[in-house]
Amino acid sequence: MLRDQVRTTNALSINEIYESIQGEGLLIGTPSVFVRFQGCNLRCPWCDQPSALSFREASYDQEEVLKRVKSSPFRHVVITGGEPFAHTGLFQLVKRLLEEGFSVQIETNGTLWVEGMEEVAERVHITCSPKAVADFFVHPKILKFARELKFVVDSALSLEVLLKKEFVPFLKDQRVVLQPESNRPEALEKALSLQRELAERGFTVRVIPQVHKFLGIK
Ligand code: SF4
Repeated sequence: MLRDQVRTTNALSINEIYESIQGEGLLIGTPSVFVRFQGCNLRCPWCDQPSALSFREASYDQEEVLKRVKSSPFRHVVITGGEPFAHTGLFQLVKRLLEEGFSVQIETNGTLWVEGMEEVAERVHITCSPKAVADFFVHPKILKFARELKFVVDSALSLEVLLKKEFVPFLKDQRVVLQPESNRPEALEKALSLQRELAERGFTVRVIPQVHKFLGIK
């Protein structure tokens, strides 16, 4: 899918690097350095990072990114976007961060894969957030290595989607998070309803909002 948009250089196109707490998903509350890639292959209608969507020329080299990350006392790095797997430089960056002793998390829409990532993927917390605009397609390699599935609960998400056969192993292992879209009350109501319907089928999923937004932090 949209392979032509995958960058072919190890120079990195970065939107921003900043410190915060992880506000979403199973690792919520973890003090983290966020490295946000610039450029995404999808266009979700409610995307909260519109400035990170267009692809641009590289703005950092890898050593600059490492220097910025190492200047923080936090030892967890969240690589986000945009879409991190739309950049081949992702592999070398992750490799270096792991060598430097950081724990690494990648937040991805799940549609792409970067060659070489098999070497490091088992040591990375991959959070996959399947998207309606991609018909909830998830690349087989992401399905293999992802540690959690985080579904944004919007008008397109349904019980049928959550019960797709490739997602059932995550349901069985309680590695599914439902995140109400933009913390809207209607989305929360729908998330709780889906949570109940899944419980009736024997699956426990977590409903977790975007906590950093409640706290009023980045
Ligand atoms: S995949 Fe993520 S970054 Fe890309 S458009 Fe959707 S929400 Fe925005």
